[in-house]
Amino acid sequence: MKCAYCKVLACGEGKTKGPKGCPMREYMDIIEEARREYEKTPIRKLASSAGIVEASGYIEWPRLREIIEFARLMQYKKLGIAFCIGLQEEAAIVSKILEKAGFEVYSINCKVGAIPKEDVGVPKEYQGTSKTGYEIGYVTCNPIGQAYLLAQAGTELNIALGLCVGHDSLFFKYSKAPVTVLAAKDRISGHNPLGFIKTYYGRKYFQKLLSEQNTK
Ligand code: SF4
Repeated sequence: MKCAYCKVLACGEGKTKGPKGCPMREYMDIIEEARREYEKTPIRKLASSAGIVEASGYIEWPRLREIIEFARLMQYKKLGIAFCIGLQEEAAIVSKILEKAGFEVYSINCKVGAIPKEDVGVPKEYQGTSKTGYEIGYVTCNPIGQAYLLAQAGTELNIALGLCVGHDSLFFKYSKAPVTVLAAKDRISGHNPLGFIKTYYGRKYFQKLLSEQNTK
């Protein structure tokens, strides 16, 4: 299964005859199982609303507008924002925009609960100051707490705003409501990870990093 390297892209043309190694050659039974899921009412509505939003604002709407229109199509009233403490200002802007769009909005900071990093097993040498010399504190992000609190509020769609790698994984795993991502945390690129890897410097960075790691 290496779709990332495929030059045929038969699937995108609605054809099921892909090249060697195409998952459609060997795993049509699994694909059929997935297709049957879309027959279930709530899942069908999510999938069709996603398609309607894609078509409605294609290359014109910013992602936050897409989230608003998606939530309206789904007739959601309560939205949750699980945000990183480093994006407090952005969280307030997003929350206000969503409130003005007519939603009841609940937002939870990643540090909620003030749980020490020690309590979740972060070794002492990875607390306080980062290996790159920045102040990072002793309080762990608490994505499970964010998910539980938003469930308590009864949110119908949760928006991940700048959660760290891994903390976001936990949030996705524990969120009761479906989750969409407004921004992926990437401190070095202004939260635009693809922007970084598409630059000459981004590619150089990974070339150097991986050649150093491979010679160890
Ligand atoms: S599903 Fe098949 S045709 Fe589509 S990208 Fe993957 S390998 Fe290519």
